[in-house]
Order: sequence, then C-alpha cells, then structure tokens
Amino acid sequence: MADITLQFPDGKQRQFDANATTKDVAQSIAISLAKKAVAGKLDGKLIDLNAPLKHDGKIEIVTSDSEDGLSVLRQSVALLTKVALKETFPEIQFGAEVGDQDGFYVDTDKQDGQVSVDSLPAISDKVQALVNQKLAIKHVRLSKDEALKKLEGTSYEQKLVKDSDDEEFPFYEIDGVSVLASGVSFDNTGAIKFFRLLSVAGAYFEGKSSNPMLQRIYGTAFYKQADLDADLQARQEAREHDHRVIGNDLDLFFVDPKVGAGLPYWMPNGATIRRTIERYIIDKEVADGYKHVYTPVLANLDLYKTSGHWDHYREDMFPPMDMGDGEMLELRPMNCPSHIQIYNHHIRSYRELPLRIAELGMMHRYEKSGALSGLQRVREMTLNDGHTFVALDQVQDEFKKILRLIMDVYKDFNIDDYSFRLSYRDPENTEKYFDDDEMWNRSQTMLKGAMDDLGLDYYEAEGEAAFYGPKLDIQTKTALGNDETMSTIQLDFMLPDRFDLTYVGADGENHRPVMIHRGIVGTMERFIAYLTEIYKGAFPTWLAPKQVTIIPVSDDKHGDYAEKLRKQYATAGVRAEVDHRGEKMNYLIRDAQTHKIPYTLVVGDKEMADNAVSVRKYGEENSESMGADDFQTAILKDIANYSNN
Ligand code: ATP
Ligand code: ZN
Repeated sequence: MADITLQFPDGKQRQFDANATTKDVAQSIAISLAKKAVAGKLDGKLIDLNAPLKHDGKIEIVTSDSEDGLSVLRQSVALLTKVALKETFPEIQFGAEVGDQDGFYVDTDKQDGQVSVDSLPAISDKVQALVNQKLAIKHVRLSKDEALKKLEGTSYEQKLVKDSDDEEFPFYEIDGVSVLASGVSFDNTGAIKFFRLLSVAGAYFEGKSSNPMLQRIYGTAFYKQADLDADLQARQEAREHDHRVIGNDLDLFFVDPKVGAGLPYWMPNGATIRRTIERYIIDKEVADGYKHVYTPVLANLDLYKTSGHWDHYREDMFPPMDMGDGEMLELRPMNCPSHIQIYNHHIRSYRELPLRIAELGMMHRYEKSGALSGLQRVREMTLNDGHTFVALDQVQDEFKKILRLIMDVYKDFNIDDYSFRLSYRDPENTEKYFDDDEMWNRSQTMLKGAMDDLGLDYYEAEGEAAFYGPKLDIQTKTALGNDETMSTIQLDFMLPDRFDLTYVGADGENHRPVMIHRGIVGTMERFIAYLTEIYKGAFPTWLAPKQVTIIPVSDDKHGDYAEKLRKQYATAGVRAEVDHRGEKMNYLIRDAQTHKIPYTLVVGDKEMADNAVSVRKYGEENSESMGADDFQTAILKDIANYSNN
C-alpha cells in the first residue's frame, strides 16, 4: 500500500510503502543506482540504506561517489575500529568519533600504553579481518534513556549522550559487539574497500583542557585504491612541510600542554632563528626611522576599557588579575594602547610627525584550545608591531614608506608570491563605521593613489575595512598553498579620539593625528612556522641555527685543526661547530644533511697541510676544496646577502 510521498531532487514526487527503505527506492529507479547507493538522505538527514523511511519527505540517494558517500564509508571504518579495539581491550572506553570529508577518528581512554602508533598495525589487521568476513552490520536506534542504560559503566559516552539534543542514538552490532555511533554506516563490513589507520595523538575530551586527555586514533578510507594512494601522498607532503614535525626533528621548539597549551618553549636552535630575525627587523626599522621601545605586557584594565578592547575583544583576552587592593591588571591582547602611552607621554609638535614607535611586543590571547597549533596559533606571542602617528596630509607618504619597507623585507626573505587587498568602508552603509567622512574619503583616496603611484596591482574590497579605518592586507601563500595575511597597514581614526591624542600644529592649535598600525612579518611565532614550512627546515644560511659543521677525518689527528677553524669562523660571526663524535665519516656527513646544516666541512691531512677545507653544501653530492679563508669570505657574503643558498 502506497502510504508515504517522497520528493526527489528534481522535484518529482512518487509514492512508496511506509516500510520502504532507501535501497528499495534506489532499486525502483535503476539497478545501477542501487549498486552505488550507500545511504539515504531524508529531509537533509543521513539515514541507513535499509532503514524504513516511515514518513513523507525529500529524499536523496547517497552514492559512493559523493562527499556524503565518503563520510558513510569513514563512519563505517570508525565503527569497525571501535569493534576491533573492544575485542582487543574489553575494558576500553570511547570518547567521540567522527567520519567526514577529512577522514575519521576514534577517541579512546588512555589505558596506559594500550593504544599507540605501534599498536595500529595489529588493530588494522583486526579491522581487515572483520572486512574480509563480510559480516552483517546490525543497526538499532535507542531513545536517550535506553542508550544511557546500555552505556552504563562508561563515563565519556554516557556524558556525550546526556549532553546531546538528539532523540535517538544509533548503535551498531558487528561480530556480536555493539557500539554507539555518531553517524550512518554500511550494512555489511564487506562494503569497506580501502582504509588506513594513520596516527595517534592526544585530544582532550570535548576539546576542553580541564577534561581528561584521551587518545585519538586517526584514519582515512576511500572507495578506490588510487584515491587512497593520492591522499596518503598528500598527507606525506603535508607532513614533510609541517613545522611541528620539523620543529621536533630539528629541536626548534616544543609545546607541552602539561605546562601550558599554546605556550611554546624555544629551544636553542629555534631561539637562534628567532634572535636572528628579531635583530634583523629591529635594525631594518631603526634604519627606516622607527624608535624601538619596550613596554609592559601587563597594564591596568582601564587602559583596555578606554581602548575598547574590553568591550569588543574580551572573548580573546585572558581574564583580569584581581590584585586584591582594588587594582585589576590585564595581560594585553594588542600593543596599540601601550604605544599610545609613549606618544602621550610628551606634548607632541607637528615637527615630530610622522612619529614611528615600534616594538617586538609580547601579547596574550586566549585562543580556543582546539585551534592551537604549534607556533602557528599560540596564546603568548611576540608581534613585530609598529604604530606611526601622522597628520592627515602625511598619510599617503607614510603609507608608501611602510609598503616599501615591507617589500624590502620580503625580498630579503625571498617571499615573492604575494598579493594586495585594499579594504574600504561600505559606501552604502557608512553609519557602520567611525563617523568622520572627511577622514574616510581623503584617506581612502590617498591609499588608492599610493598603490597606483607605486604601480602595484591590488584588489579593492568595499565593506572589508575595520570599523576604525581603511587598510591594506598583504596575502602570502603558505607551503601548502593556503592564503595567509602576513603584513597589514591599518589606518585608525578611533584610538586617537578615544585617547584624546593631539599634536600642536604650525598654527599653534591642537590637532588630532591619524594612527597607522602596521605589522611587517606578523608574530615571530607564526612567521617562523611559515618559514619552517616554506623551507622544509632547510633554512638559508643567514637563518640556519647551525651554519657550518666541521668534521675532522680523524678526531685525534685533525680535531685541533677543526677547532682552530671553528674559532676563526665564530670570531667572524659564523655559527660553526666541530663534530667530535669520531663516528664513521659517511654517518657524520649524512647526519649533517639530516639536520639541514648549510655547510659541511671535512678536514683531513691534506686540508690541514694546505690550510684548506673540503666543502659540501646542503643537498649536494659533491664537495669542493677551498682555502679556509676563502670559505670564510664566501659564507660571510652568503650571510650578508641573505642568500637563499
Ligand atoms: P587571526 O585571524 O589569525 O586570529 P588576527 O586577524 O586576529 O589573526 P591581528 O590582530 O591582526 O590578527 O594580529 C596581528 C598578527 O598576529 C597576525 O597577522 C598574525 O601574524 C599574528 N597572530 C594573531 N593571532 C596569533 C596567534 N594566536 N598565534 C600566533 N600568531 C598570531
Ligand atoms: Zn595596533
């Protein structure tokens, strides 16, 4: 009896028996469709292929070649992984599990040492065995009460069900083991084709650092071998660039959630890279007319009330510290109010403008724990920050000057793939912005004029300006091809107003300056994450933590000569070390390559007799003999030119 009406994506409607399943519907259309069908979607919600549809609605057949089809496959493998884990560790507890466009994961409690990368092959074999047996996957949906009863004795899954707004909870039974699922699965294990368990990493239950840390098993699955291979290849590529992996291999930095998530520790190698960049940027800015300052990371909360941060940016700020005597101190999320204090410390004259204040300013932002990533997104960071205070008619020249500085710095870092985005206020909606039409109109015209004068291509984005003024963003591409805002120049009419900034003009009257916020390379953290990924850890000589390693052929015979060279090079400002380990030459050379040291010098009898070195550049197979002093001249030139090897 036809008693439900289903509407298809093309708008056509047909009637079906209320007990009909998505599989029946697919079969009624075409056998070939039924073959490809892996689930249904009723009114936008995924349902099992063989679940009775029961009510009217809009139906879609989910096939294996769709994005939803991939999610269903990955959900199914996640379930099998849970079953395999439960068969291996009967006491195991599960947290969340997800199968989607990115792959899948299953969270488990730690069960000390039970689940690790080393146990993945065995678990994977178990999953494969379940697949090979082509077992039925039985499916029931329970009410919240029933589900909680079934999950008695589990802590995480009970909590997930308790906190959920869903009315029904799917359980799937495979091989006599029943597990809770978060999505829709196949009806037979045999439908699973190509899968891979990838890695294990810590993840807080529900993403909250106050909750216990669980172990997350990551994996992926595809319908075709070629797709799996391509995905593994892309993952390998991403891994080779991943600054967290490289940072660990080259001992650059570490983050330990036990001592604070998002609070990186810079090891000597990473600190050397950072120090080199910091010195470079300070020198560059000082030469360009900036006054570098140091200002405290803490300030009275009132400062951030005046600036507006407390009203508009509070979610990203650390909570204030109540000092108990009425004073509230706040960790700054931005440096602008601090530089305003420097400006306001003296009465300013028009003769001092543009006044350029810069700092490698440390700031704190309470980023969500799930968003934290190595050095790329942290909670304590140091920004290459600067604020210039100008008269309105100086905006254009100052803007050009900043832009030239930015491009100059990019050249030294070999950054050449970037684009400009100029953001204006929305002309239809001017009341949404700081209220000063003259400032907006004149300054927007000046920015555009500056870009045209400099002959630069740019993209104009109306409505993308900040509330307080127009801006230019400079977008670069990360190693994996994602866009990243590296530099920014932002005009600000609001803060000068809020802090009542003035300068005495040539007319002897007080005038309001415009403030320009500008960042050249962003935060040290994100910039070094970026560079590490671009260079895959093979930093150009001027940035490399170790620039030269000297390997004596025999430490007994040539060790002293190597030391003499090290001293000479170090005195000249080269970061050189001698490898005294006395291991086999080939091993030491390979080790230097693994650590991506730009120059490896081998010294033996001949080199010692000739005051020479045998030079091998990173990534090259051959070495070249050179006078020890000539090498010094060459490497110093390399460093001075910021050359990219
Ligand atoms: P995002 O959108 O990435 O959070 P934002 O727009 O809030 O950044 P700004 O306030 O403009 O960033 O901060 C200036 C610079 O600080 C950014 O260009 C970026 O380089 C860097 N930055 C911002 N947040 C972080 C963070 N959590 N960790 C590391 N660097 C950061
Ligand atoms: Zn600022």
